[in-house]
Amino acid sequence: MDNNFTKIILKSGKEQSLLRFHPWVFSGAIKQINGKVDEGDVVKVYSNSNEFLGIGHYQIGSIAVRIFSFDDIEPNADFWKSKLNAALNVRKAIGLIDNDETNVFRLVHGEGDGLPGLIIDIYKGTAVLQMHSIGMFLIRKEIAAYLKEIFGDRLVAVYDKSSKTIPFKAELNPVDGFLLGESDPVVVSEYGNLFQVDWAEGQKTGFFIDQRENRYLLQHYSKGRDVLNMFCYTGGFSFFAMKGGAKLVHSVDSSSKAIELTKTNVELNFPDDNRHEAIVADAFEYLSNIKDRYDLIVLDPPAFAKHRGALNNALQAYKRLNARAFEQIRPGGIVFTFSCSQVVSREKFREAVFSGAAISGRSVRILHQLTQPADHPISIYHPEGEYLKGLVLYVE
Ligand code: SAH
Repeated sequence: MDNNFTKIILKSGKEQSLLRFHPWVFSGAIKQINGKVDEGDVVKVYSNSNEFLGIGHYQIGSIAVRIFSFDDIEPNADFWKSKLNAALNVRKAIGLIDNDETNVFRLVHGEGDGLPGLIIDIYKGTAVLQMHSIGMFLIRKEIAAYLKEIFGDRLVAVYDKSSKTIPFKAELNPVDGFLLGESDPVVVSEYGNLFQVDWAEGQKTGFFIDQRENRYLLQHYSKGRDVLNMFCYTGGFSFFAMKGGAKLVHSVDSSSKAIELTKTNVELNFPDDNRHEAIVADAFEYLSNIKDRYDLIVLDPPAFAKHRGALNNALQAYKRLNARAFEQIRPGGIVFTFSCSQVVSREKFREAVFSGAAISGRSVRILHQLTQPADHPISIYHPEGEYLKGLVLYVE
């Protein structure tokens, strides 16, 4: 079997992280590549003393191999189906399969499900695939077929949305589209709240599934409050707040498309409810002039740092943003604040929020420390998978 796949040999000592099941091989760890290798190829990785370490997809870049098995398996249909079934079993354990209230969830979360480079989101009967590695992109049609086998009639269509996530330099010229079946944009339900989802046009795979539990928590803090949902995108936090009994909800985003989506979704859930208003504005400007207007503020900005080089600027931005919210919120107010930048650690984010609080001089207590939901699991061996962090704060 060994002859089928190109063999990659690591420098002495560089096997340690793989022995602890970390799935990334950095290019600098490679001593030698025995044979020809193209981007996306399956390769086998060995230590300098010829010990098998793992099998994965090869790619040019700082992460050279993404390991999908630490056992010496044959990556055939049975193998991929068993990995997908394992991911499905986790969602069953969480209670997301055949759930009447929630029919939008993440089925496969990359490294968190032992499938680096593969994201699969389920929107009712449609699966949306987003490949982050060339190896996974090359087997997208097979993955779609396995999903169909597993889900049967419950799966109507599989849509591939990898054009913006696989490396541009690979020159694969990916075009987004259906790999299997066809479906129109759907209305999905999250805890009984309705969302219109357009995977083709929307950000990520169409919807920020990862805020489900945090939106649900917000619902319980909203009663009688004046709520600002900053960076609202599809408006999720807004109608959870309305459901929770908010007195008034203002949704703000710099994108007019997002504001239209929010309006549509609020109308779906609360037709003719005059508690809600949606506003196109820049966050930093809007937040500078809202003294004592709100007593619940949500800050869920886009990833300020997409790579390590941007870390310091991102931390400054989190600090300024949070300082504004603390300065302006009414006494006894509550702030839900988030970072979805993978390179910003939980500690660094908390430090930035701490600095923002210090600038405001207000007394601030941490009520909850939030993270991503269970259908975005984190492999204990791959802490980098913890990308979403949030704090719920009480501002005296
Ligand atoms: N809270 C949302 C997800 C937020 S995504 C949810 O629960 O689904 C981040 C949003 O921030 C995007 O919609 C983007 O248009 C918006 N955005 C980016 N920069 C902004 C700025 N400077 N001011 C206001 N909104 C901004």
